[in-house]
Amino acid sequence: MKQPEHILIIGAGLVGSLLAVYLRKRGYQVTLYERRADMRKEEMSAGRSINLALSDRGIRALTEVGLMDQIQPIAIPMHGRQMHPIQGEQVYQAYGKSGQFINAVSRGLLNQTLLDAAEQAGAVIYFQHKCLHVDFDQHQVSFETSTGDTIQVQADRIIASDGAFSAGRLSHQLQHHRFQYQQYYIDYGYKELHIPPTATGEYALEKHALHIWPRGNYMMIALPNTDGSFTCTLFFPFEGEPSFASLKTREEVTSFFDAQFPDAVPFMPTLVDDFFSNPTSSLVTVKCTPWTRGDRFALIGDAAHAIVPFFGQGMNCGFEDCAVLNQLLELHADDWSKALPAYDQLRKPDGDAIAELALTNFVEMRDRVADPSFLLQKKIEAWFAEKHPTQWIPAYAQVTFSPQIRYSEALHNGQRQERIMAQIMQMPNINTNWQSELVEQRILELLQTTPA
Ligand code: FAD
Repeated sequence: MKQPEHILIIGAGLVGSLLAVYLRKRGYQVTLYERRADMRKEEMSAGRSINLALSDRGIRALTEVGLMDQIQPIAIPMHGRQMHPIQGEQVYQAYGKSGQFINAVSRGLLNQTLLDAAEQAGAVIYFQHKCLHVDFDQHQVSFETSTGDTIQVQADRIIASDGAFSAGRLSHQLQHHRFQYQQYYIDYGYKELHIPPTATGEYALEKHALHIWPRGNYMMIALPNTDGSFTCTLFFPFEGEPSFASLKTREEVTSFFDAQFPDAVPFMPTLVDDFFSNPTSSLVTVKCTPWTRGDRFALIGDAAHAIVPFFGQGMNCGFEDCAVLNQLLELHADDWSKALPAYDQLRKPDGDAIAELALTNFVEMRDRVADPSFLLQKKIEAWFAEKHPTQWIPAYAQVTFSPQIRYSEALHNGQRQERIMAQIMQMPNINTNWQSELVEQRILELLQTTPA
């Protein structure tokens, strides 16, 4: 009997572990090589986000491999955004129609579940193996082991899912004479902070919402954890006033938070300690091409397309990459010489699109959600979409709840909708007559006349 092909996956993070499950189901011999120690045995270090928003694209892939039943119990539905102004009433904005929600999931638990699933499916995982180099002529990867030794491993196919700073990608780049690469850091970093459960063990804020404190140039968000706590993330400029650089003392941090986040501070007893002990991390977008090399090598997940986290899609996109690659292997009867170029051609525009959507959504979250005219626009869109569901799916819902729509299409459709809504928002008395037949007719008209 012919030996199954050996697929070597670099990086056993969220995407690499899920890919291993998919490929084992196709009958390949799969080995994963992970730089870190086994997180199921060791404490996860702080720095990377503690919880993530899992939505329909990711759920579709997890369901396809039969894992969603295990993830469901650790997922907390968030039905909308709860906006916290400095003063005045909080504003709630539903994410979509009733029954549409995103889910807060612990990164650690999700990754552990995926590692277990990969092993149960028959993949072998080597921890504390750091990829140093890929030799594309020899189809061989060099790893540094925990003892400091260097080993070489050969494989039929090599897939790099080793994240935004991928060593696999770097080797690909250095041995490719026309590799395109773009790396872009925004001027903002992020820092995680903590809201523990109340003294009676309750959630201090509404559990089923993603909380946002939009402050124009910066923002804080909070996502619920299953233990009753929230993980807050402050997205804040590195430099300027105010910024990570400008908040130097305990007093400066305290008075800044008291002034800007007065309703959150009473729930953050360890705020100042957390602020100084938790790392400040940067946010990068990586675009590159090609994602593949002949029929032997591919980039996937953040290694192919690192994006900023403001649409909550990085992991979801990586999970969708796995599902698409699997579909293409199915379509091409596991002929990698056809499946890999098709994967590259299909996914690269979608990776670029979600990168752009994610950058734009930062402005929406930190600034526009506090603008009454923006909130009205979203209300009009939701109202119209409910009346004409086949003609209008709000842009957020296209990205988050509509896996049948490609990211590249969602970007394009969303830009057209923005052009239409810019005209609607100019209509006289739109604040008071937004639910009128006149507005409805005008949107229908603009849908006919606005070019795609
Ligand atoms: P990673 O998760 O980075 O995993 C890569 C793995 O490769 C790691 O285990 C790493 O140790 C290993 N590795 C690295 N280098 C090597 C090497 N040389 N050799 C061997 N192994 C190596 N996405 C969402 O969908 N929803 C969200 O709400 C969301 N929120 C986020 C919030 C923040 C603050 C950040 C920073 C990101 C967020 N993301 C979110 C994005 C998400 O974290 C990433 O898209 C996702 O982790 C990508 O998975 P990955 O497996 O491709 O890469």
